[in-house]
Amino acid sequence: MKKEVTTKKVFIRTLGCQMNVRDSEVIGGLLSKSGYKITDIEEKADIIIFNTCSVRQHAEDKVWSAIGRTKAKIIGIMGCMANNYREAIFEKAPKVDFVVGTRDIAKIPAILKEIEKHKDSPLLEKKIYETDADFREDEIYHTGFRLDKEHAFVVITEGCENYCAYCVVPYVRGALRSRSSQDILEEIKEDIDAGITRITLLGQNVNAYKYQDTDFIELAQEVNGLKGLKEFGFITSHPKDTTVDLFKALAECRKFNNYLHLPVQSGSDRVLKLMNRGYTREFYLNLVDNYRKMIKDGTLSTDIIVGFPSETEVDFQDTFNLIKEVEFDKAYVFKYSVRPNTKAAEFADNIERQEKERRHKLILDLQKSISRTKNAKKNN
Ligand code: SAM
Ligand code: SF4
Repeated sequence: MKKEVTTKKVFIRTLGCQMNVRDSEVIGGLLSKSGYKITDIEEKADIIIFNTCSVRQHAEDKVWSAIGRTKAKIIGIMGCMANNYREAIFEKAPKVDFVVGTRDIAKIPAILKEIEKHKDSPLLEKKIYETDADFREDEIYHTGFRLDKEHAFVVITEGCENYCAYCVVPYVRGALRSRSSQDILEEIKEDIDAGITRITLLGQNVNAYKYQDTDFIELAQEVNGLKGLKEFGFITSHPKDTTVDLFKALAECRKFNNYLHLPVQSGSDRVLKLMNRGYTREFYLNLVDNYRKMIKDGTLSTDIIVGFPSETEVDFQDTFNLIKEVEFDKAYVFKYSVRPNTKAAEFADNIERQEKERRHKLILDLQKSISRTKNAKKNN
């Protein structure tokens, strides 16, 4: 009789955003329930799962080279790269045993069992890829497996259909789906029972949340009312769906953490239009004004892309000056990276690497000096 393989220790390497951090926890929970042991020491693992990011080329490059280095016996790819490359991953990285798409993650325990069965017999060697599911089942969020014992990320929406011209997310994470509000509240209550006191509601554009009659404002109010919860926040907000009514409601939510992440991407109306962002510089500045008036001591951060196709020095200066004017508490600055399938991939990537680097550094330096001045004021 063929001997059952007993490779049981799994290391999950997480790259990318908070959505992936939460997805890794979900997988950790599902695998623990199926008898696997999650380890945080890669060298001790029999199985390694890369939870990947495709937002920029650099994030993908990191995974390709990490696959080459790993000594684990079984290698799996989940997350955005799984949907971006599907079975082509096996050609590019023959060491990989399985590929699981962003909406198929509940299948991982069964896939692993199947791979383990075949792994010691070269004749039976099997590659599995599953990337076709349309949505996730809500049960996957209820395993109770949490890495942080005080704070929890809670997914409220999956996918995105804003189709910003530079962004791969709608192609790899699928259409927007809002989870049932009842199920979200249930998950948070389970977290509170486990001792968690702070939560962050997660989605690519949380303000677009809508489940039956419940919109994001109502959901935030319900979360605010949960007994035992001390603080809540959310990421990410898209300016086009962020409203004064939301600020009004949040001002009344005692547990709101007074933090807004509001990616502007560019300060140039011409570039914003090319990016398909759906707002203007003036609209954005107005929103910031209202936020600061209505949320006392509110902090504000943003994302910026430099070197978008055709971005001129004048466009760049518009972004630079917007940052100077708004004085964000934090800015995450990215160099434009061409992504397959996106609208912007049809434009020439015509800003030289050195020029992207120059613009990147100028904004980082500006933000550093803004943050320094703000901190000095706070400490006085
Ligand atoms: N959904 C969020 C939003 O609308 O802002 C975040 C999406 S993405 C995971 C995080 C950030 O990566 C974006 O805000 C954007 O600044 C940056 N980004 C996305 N695609 C990019 C690309 N092709 N090149 C460079 N930066 C990119
Ligand atoms: Fe990407 Fe735009 Fe959706 Fe954010 S809102 S995930 S940047 S398409």
